[in-house]
Parts: sequence; structure tokens; C-alpha cells
Amino acid sequence: MSSETVNLRTLDGGEVGLDAAVLDPIPDGARLRPGSPGFEDATRIWNGMIHKEPALVIQPETAGEVAFAVDLAREHELMFSIKGGGHNISGLALADGGLTLDMSRMKAVRVDTDSRLVQVGPGCLLGDVDRVTQEHGMATTLGFVSETGVAGLTLGGGFGYLSRRFGYTVDDLVEVEIVTADGQTRRASRASEPDLFWALRGGGGNFGVVTEFTFRLHEVGPQIMGGLIAWPAEDHAEDVLGLYREITTSAPREMTLVATMRLAPPAPFIPEQWHGNPMVAIVACHTGEPAQAAADLSPIKEFGKPITDQVMAKTYAEQQSMLDATQPKGANYYWKTEFIPGLSDPFLDVFRANAAGIESPMSQFMMFHVAGAINEHVEDDGAVGNRDAAFVTGAAGAWPATDPNGESYQAWVRSAWENIRPFSTGGNYVNFQTTDDDVARIESAYRGNYHRLRQVKAEWDPGNLFRVNRNLEPDRL
Ligand SMILES: Cc1cc2nc3c(=O)[nH]c(=O)nc-3n(C[C@H](O)[C@H](O)[C@H](O)COP(=O)(O)OP(=O)(O)OC[C@H]3O[C@@H](n4cnc5c(N)ncnc54)[C@H](O)[C@@H]3O)c2cc1C
Repeated sequence: MSSETVNLRTLDGGEVGLDAAVLDPIPDGARLRPGSPGFEDATRIWNGMIHKEPALVIQPETAGEVAFAVDLAREHELMFSIKGGGHNISGLALADGGLTLDMSRMKAVRVDTDSRLVQVGPGCLLGDVDRVTQEHGMATTLGFVSETGVAGLTLGGGFGYLSRRFGYTVDDLVEVEIVTADGQTRRASRASEPDLFWALRGGGGNFGVVTEFTFRLHEVGPQIMGGLIAWPAEDHAEDVLGLYREITTSAPREMTLVATMRLAPPAPFIPEQWHGNPMVAIVACHTGEPAQAAADLSPIKEFGKPITDQVMAKTYAEQQSMLDATQPKGANYYWKTEFIPGLSDPFLDVFRANAAGIESPMSQFMMFHVAGAINEHVEDDGAVGNRDAAFVTGAAGAWPATDPNGESYQAWVRSAWENIRPFSTGGNYVNFQTTDDDVARIESAYRGNYHRLRQVKAEWDPGNLFRVNRNLEPDRL
């Protein structure tokens, strides 16, 4: 790269030309520009609606290289972003015209079975971690789709099939190594830099570049019982949602149920005559003893006449990747969600009515049961908050990038969201926010923790270098 100039966008919207020689400390092949081999892979993200192109990508392998990039960005006031798994729906992985740190070369996963801890590199996807921890019959709390990045999921809070037992992902987070805006590498935990650690447990990428996460592990799997069971919506929606409410009211924490309504996809396990017709489905995951799992799941398996019943004994790792195919990279996605405290009759009526308006073959209206361990922490145990939530619900709009009806699918998401807002706890999940969610939405994601989060932000990132995120300093963009 020497003797060339790299033009990069700056924080104030201007541009700076850097002599490419300043990048020499980063090995060849780990500093990419448009057209370089690997550039497209490094900048490809999940949501096809986002069109951003960094002018420079650095792929660090060490915390030292991360610190170099942070120093470079701070000294030249570069627009700067961090790409974990690239799954954020708002496209927060990429700095348009600026410098993107792609963490995909930092993928180490180390399990310590004695201390029941796992150290995870910031480039890991969920599947990378589950694969290794499951070799020891253990897991930490991660999300429902194995291709999601650990870093972004964790920093926004994180929930999944194990949350009812163990809480948010950040409730399992024990320590992080982080490069802060001053270029220093630090370790943060409840004992060391407690304010910073508190903020990192939900406050997103606002505070620095995490170079390692340490999570607590629990005995889970490898065998569990889980899968999807679906019924035709026309005859069954009301009864299935009623059953869902009844079971989730008393379900043991080993059992997590997700309810979804959509048009039946052309999946091989769904008989062809149902493809494209409205269906109501429950995705189940039971990580308890096999006999108990069978007993707890039997009311669901015996209910009505399902179109398909895929609930069976399987590995936890299989369960964790079961929904991957429903979320292909590069399609268009637009979501709106809320946390809710419970399932009232009027809410279930709205749920069904919203689902009846689905036109896209990929969109869904969903609810995830999360009540349990997350509710046993005080509201300000970590920035994540939302300790009063029992379900996460919302409209997940999705359609092929070539489908011309995107406007109409987005309009459905917005109107379905307006219908569920009256049932909200007042909180929403920061990691599900889209580009058009405003500052008020960020504030309502954190509610009582927002003010303290902004104080910690002002202390650790006074120049708002880390701003390609759900930003806590909107006045300083
Ligand atoms: C299909 C799908 C399923 C999902 N399922 C779940 C689920 O079950 N549970 C759940 O909780 N969430 C879920 N999510 C939401 C998910 O948590 C967010 O999209 C999250 O932002 C993804 O993280 P990422 O690393 O892939 O994102 P990226 O787009 O790479 O990054 C997102 C944000 O994290 C920051 N970031 C990334 N790496 C670092 C780092 N090393 N240091 C500091 N900041 C960093 C970035 O700056 C950016 O602001 C899902 C998302 C998708 C698309």
C-alpha cells in the first residue's frame, strides 16, 4: 500500500487522505480496500437493505492490532466501525467511507472445564462457541440463529433458549478485554472497572472494541428435545395461541417456547399442499431430563392435527442452528419489536390480526418466552435492563432483495407494531432496532439505565469515536 493515499471519511463528514504507509504495522492481506481480494467477504452483512462501503477494512489478529486501529481512528478522527458477525439489522458493522475493523480473524474459543468458563474471540459466530462448549456438554446463553455474531449479541444484552434458566447473555458474562478510545487495553469485570463493565452489559459498541469475552458455562445437552410443530392457522390459531399461553404460564425453565405465525415456507418437512398458506407454529426447546422433556412437551405434540411435527430428541447444537435457513444472508429485513409483560386476551387477538395481514412469504409475527432468570436481577444489574419482560414480540418483515413489494411489507411491519405498542412494558430490545428507530427508541430500550449509560459513555468515549452503533451521544454525531 506504500506511496498511495487512502481517502477516508472523518467524524465531521469531511475526508482525510492518509499516506498508506501509516498502515504498514498491519500485515499485507489484513488491510483491505474496495477491489482487494477478500474485501467483499469482509463487508458483506446480513441485511440486504443496507448499502454502505468502507474505504478501508482492517482485520486484526491481536489486541495490539486493534489498539493500533483505534489510535489511528482517534488521531485522524476517522468514521470507524466494528464488525462482529455483521448480523445487526441496522447495518452497524460498516462505516460508510470510513474504517471498519472486521474481527473475523479473532475466533479463538477456549473452555476451562474446572472453572466452567469459556473465553471467546470477538469474531466468533454463535455456532463457533456452541460447537466447542458442547464437546464438554456445556453451553452459555446465546441466541436462536447460529450465524449471529457473539460480540454484537452480547453487548446488546442477548437472549435465547437458555435465558429462562440463566438470564440474559450478559448475566453469564464474567469479564471482557477491551481496547478503549484512548487506545489502552483493559480488563473489565464486576471487580475491575465496574462502571465500564456495567455499561458493556447491554450498552452495545459505545465503549470500545472488545477483544475477548469470558462467559460462565452450564451443563446443557448434548442431547435435548426440541424442534418446530405447526398447524394450519385458519382452524387452529386461536386454540394454539391459547395453549401457548397456558403452557408458558407454568412451564419449567428448562422449556422455552417461541410462537410464530407466517405463510408456510416451502421447506421439505412441510407437505406441499400447505406451502404459502397461513400457519401457526411453536418452536420448542427443552434442555431438561429426557423423560421430563417428553412429558412437558406432550400437550403440544398431542394438540390438534399438526401440518408437521419436528419436535424430537436432537443435539443442542442442531437446535441452535435449526432456524438458520429461515434467515438467509442478503435478503431484506425490517423489524419492530417490544418487550411485553404477559399475554392478555386483547394482545392475542392483536397477534392473530397482525399475522393475518402478512403478505411476504418470508415475514413472521412472533413471540419469544423469556420470563424466568432475567426477572430475578434488579433493573440496574447491567445496562440491559428490561427485567420486567416476560416475552419479546414483534413483526419480523423479510423478503427477497428482488421482490418489488418491499414498501408494502414494511408498511405491514409498522402498522403491526403500532397495534402491539399499547401492550409493551415500555421497553424494547436495542439489538432489534432498525435504522429508522430514533433517539426516543434508544432511550426506551434502556429506560431507567439510560442516564447512567450516558454518563459512562462521556467518561470512556468523550469524543464519541464509537458512534456507528445505537449511539448514546446523539447530539454529538
Ligand atoms: C437472524 C437473526 C437472529 C437473531 N437472534 C437473536 C437472538 O436470538 N437473541 C438475541 O439476543 N439477538 C438476536 N439477534 C440480534 C443480534 O443480537 C444483533 O443483530 C447483533 O447486533 C448481532 O451481532 P453481530 O456481531 O452479528 O453484529 P454486527 O453487525 O457485526 O455488530 C453490531 C454492533 O455491535 C458492535 N460490535 C461488534 N463487535 C464488537 C466488538 N468486538 N467490540 C465492540 N463492539 C462490537 C458493532 O459496533 C455494532 O454496533 C438476531 C439477529 C439476527 C439477524
